[in-house]
Amino acid sequence: MTNFSGRVAVITGAAKGIGRAMAQQFAQRGARVAVLDIDTEAAAQVAQTIRQHGGDALSLFADVTDPTTLSHAAAEVQKAYGRTDILCCNAGIYPQAFLETMTEADWDKVHAVNLKGMFLTVQAFLPMLKQSPYGRIVLTSSITGPITGFPGWAHYGATKAGMLGFMRSAAIELAKYGITVNAILPGNIETEGLGDIGEEYRRQMEAVIPFKRLGKPEDVAYAALFFASDEASYITGQTLIVDGGQILPESSLALEGI
Ligand code: NAP
Repeated sequence: MTNFSGRVAVITGAAKGIGRAMAQQFAQRGARVAVLDIDTEAAAQVAQTIRQHGGDALSLFADVTDPTTLSHAAAEVQKAYGRTDILCCNAGIYPQAFLETMTEADWDKVHAVNLKGMFLTVQAFLPMLKQSPYGRIVLTSSITGPITGFPGWAHYGATKAGMLGFMRSAAIELAKYGITVNAILPGNIETEGLGDIGEEYRRQMEAVIPFKRLGKPEDVAYAALFFASDEASYITGQTLIVDGGQILPESSLALEGI
């Protein structure tokens, strides 16, 4: 697969979990990487670790709900690296809230980060992506929303399905610049964010995943590498599920004896 030497990858929510794995994987394959996050300390640590392993990375504060911080980050990437070829819109939150008690603020916050944040991120980096001969946008959606549901995640599922609606129109609009727009739909991935959800949730999920394990952040990062590769230059507006087969069983009977 493509070596990303000479290319620049920008990843939001890259201080932890899936975003950190994306940053590490792009860096290992030669890309210069901008690690964007609200957690500046953890982001700086990710960038430093990449540099210690011989890669090139910088960390920047960017709150995807705030266009000012995004344009500042874009200007810093432009100054340091002069370009953006790959944009991974990965920052997302998944606090649980049940419909009977969900507040308007709960709804708005999840939409602000997951859906509007994606749009604002794309807009901030689009001028640089347009200049790239290898422009790629990779969205981190989820199986939750586009395919499955889970109590407490109606607002979250709405944002993750909304990302796919955005993707399809954006893919058409940006095709004239040679930019592809694709989405990854992770299942349950072992990250800091999911860790908060608890041991019982984890046990139950492992029981219904044919591979009998949660995914690793790298499993998702490899899909991002593929969408960003030269080999995927004719693929746009598409989704790739990375879930160890979680969505496949028709019922619990399908999992008996495996
Ligand atoms: P994570 O471990 O919580 O890491 C997400 C990172 O994003 C954190 O560093 C977080 O900072 C940061 N962040 C939060 N709000 C932000 C904002 N407004 N602007 C910029 N950065 C922000 O999450 P993850 O599990 O890796 O999830 C990453 C993405 O994958 C999300 O879009 C999520 O919906 C999606 N996803 C995850 C799973 C899963 O099983 N883990 C499954 C499907 C989809 P703080 O920690 O300080 O908040």
